[in-house]
Amino acid sequence: MRLTRYFLPVLKENPADAQIVSHRYMLRAGMIKQQAAGIYSWLPLGYKVLKRIEQIVHEEQVRAGHIPLLMPTLQPADLWRESGRYDDYGLEMLRIKDRQGRDMLYGPTNEEMITDIFRAHVGSYKDLPLTLYHIQWKFRDEMRPRFGVMRGREFLMKDGYNFDLTKEDALHAYNRHLVSYLRTYERMGLQAIPMRADSGPIGGDDTHEFLVLAETGESEVFYDATVTDIKLGAREIDYDDKAQCAAVMEEFTSLYARTDETHDADLFEAVPEERRKSARGIEVGQIFYFGTKYSEAMGATVVTPDGGRVPVHMGSHGIGVSRLLGAIIEASHDDKGIIWPEGVTPFHCGIVNLKQGDEGTDAACEEIYKALQKAGLDPLYDDRDERAGAKFATMDLIGLPWRITVGPRGLKNGVVELTSRRTGESEEMTAEAAVERVTQVYAGI
Ligand code: ATP
Ligand code: MG
Repeated sequence: MRLTRYFLPVLKENPADAQIVSHRYMLRAGMIKQQAAGIYSWLPLGYKVLKRIEQIVHEEQVRAGHIPLLMPTLQPADLWRESGRYDDYGLEMLRIKDRQGRDMLYGPTNEEMITDIFRAHVGSYKDLPLTLYHIQWKFRDEMRPRFGVMRGREFLMKDGYNFDLTKEDALHAYNRHLVSYLRTYERMGLQAIPMRADSGPIGGDDTHEFLVLAETGESEVFYDATVTDIKLGAREIDYDDKAQCAAVMEEFTSLYARTDETHDADLFEAVPEERRKSARGIEVGQIFYFGTKYSEAMGATVVTPDGGRVPVHMGSHGIGVSRLLGAIIEASHDDKGIIWPEGVTPFHCGIVNLKQGDEGTDAACEEIYKALQKAGLDPLYDDRDERAGAKFATMDLIGLPWRITVGPRGLKNGVVELTSRRTGESEEMTAEAAVERVTQVYAGI
């Protein structure tokens, strides 16, 4: 993309109403525009990152054997009357009447609807295990929408639902989700720690939240510092291997890590003092096992091998897709702007032309631009007739991990400059070498 043809409404001033850094940078970098409290338009740069995040979530869900579908945002109230949640859910639920006077709602989550789909089409243990998920907009009329996309009213969520014959199978689904989530967050350059949590209005026995440590997080968390050393990394996972998934689950959850809702001061005391940490965290996902709560209430049963009929064991599992943009920025920025991890960056590499209109620099930039595209990358070429300082400031603000700077002085010596946004370090090399280096970086991602 050439910047002169793009739509990047960057703000010079710090927006007064944005209290935290991710919200400020998302507004300043022209990623979002607020349309009402907690409701945003996703401008092209923000939309691009949102799509990258969504793509990673999809890939990791499919890798775990989960099947995508799409349910609507609007739901009939009657489904929720069956589970009893229509009255229980409270003011967070946006209730709507259609022209026939029928009660509808904008879905805050989809347990009832997925259970309805299941009971209509699945009747035998032979069709299990089954995990269906979608990535769809949700609406929760939050009391205090704030911090930009972190606590919106309309937000994008991946929500998945497992259906299993036995509790044991459902717990495997739970572990499988935990592992797939760890991989998802790591690919985004994030460390999200699974912590034992409270089940809230979804209800259930077993639940973990995934928290990204950040000062601006809304949750208070307590943990053993050694949990931050555990990484999934590149290890091979066989998602059908119950023992392997259970072992990863055990590895990541046996050390003390809890949110304030389930914090147990006595247990925490048992952690060696120098490893006892309390901090703030951003919840970027949550997994639940809730047994037959919905299947019993809504008649989602299957025939068993011996000819009986039982309600299925279920769980639901959510990732805050739009919240993740804020969480990633909170975890990765400096005073000049965002620093995107390579896995989610809106453009792979920026190209800065220090002397727009100069035949030599223009031609070199064009060549680099085309070479990066040919390598399958998506570069952003700042071809504006602007001062170098302004171009650098924009690149730093929007946070592309790599920048190739092309100026007449370097070209005279046959070199351009390759700069890492994260370290700030620059290296001179030929244009071909810079393209090669950037291509190599992304080859491993
Ligand atoms: P919270 O405690 O932050 O209100 P929750 O526990 O009610 O969230 P879940 O039902 O677990 O949320 O939803 C799954 C994920 O969706 C959460 O882990 C979070 O990342 C995201 N999410 C929930 N509420 C919002 C919101 N208002 N804005 C943006 N993302 C949200
Ligand atoms: Mg939650």
